[in-house]
Amino acid sequence: MNTPKTIPSPAEFVHVRDWVFDLDNTLYPHHINLFAQIDRNMTAYVAELLQMEPDEARVLQKRYYHEHGTTLAGLMAHHGVDPNDFLEKAHAIDYSALLPDEALGEAIKALPGRKFIFTNGTVEHAQAAARALGILDHFDDIFDIVAAAYLPKPASQTYDKFTQLKQIRTEQAAMFEDLPRNLLVPKALGMKTVLLVPRNLEGVVLESWERVDGETGKAHVDFVTDDLSSFLSAILAGQ
Ligand SMILES: [Mg+2]
Repeated sequence: MNTPKTIPSPAEFVHVRDWVFDLDNTLYPHHINLFAQIDRNMTAYVAELLQMEPDEARVLQKRYYHEHGTTLAGLMAHHGVDPNDFLEKAHAIDYSALLPDEALGEAIKALPGRKFIFTNGTVEHAQAAARALGILDHFDDIFDIVAAAYLPKPASQTYDKFTQLKQIRTEQAAMFEDLPRNLLVPKALGMKTVLLVPRNLEGVVLESWERVDGETGKAHVDFVTDDLSSFLSAILAGQ
């Protein structure tokens, strides 16, 4: 049994030159739940597009999510939806729940090397969220679902596209994510992997990464944390 560690030692990250962060539920805590707004917008989009009742639209939305990885991919495959129109409407949300996170900003700024946001959302969404958190200026670049040609993580082609475009040496990179399945490819590529889990939900926490456990032996998660700022501070403590 390979149990992920919760406290990093600086030596384990001393080789890292590229720091890759998922956006939603990674750079801000799960309980902020911005995704609930996006989720509602997507349901409304499907309902209007296909003239369905909301309940019916929601069932179809979730089916596409499970079968295609994103609602958008299903809508493009089955209904020829314009991705830009969908993404703009899905991400028309209120960011006021996100407050400046000074500790996180200081930690990201202090990390040696380049910092990236790698999201299944859009650049505009990432910029808006990171700006609200007061951390946008600390990132070198953002790789989004448009750059991924609408093929979401965890598709391996999308990680290849990202690492080639940004010239990332994966054995000198670390990836931070809240979805266990999105860490499988990074681990296989030689990246350090850190799973973000919700705060104060230890029981749920274990379930969330153990869900992948049966398939993968959980060996793809090097570290688990519910506090990104503290985790990064621990990495930086040795420098
Ligand atoms: Mg996420």
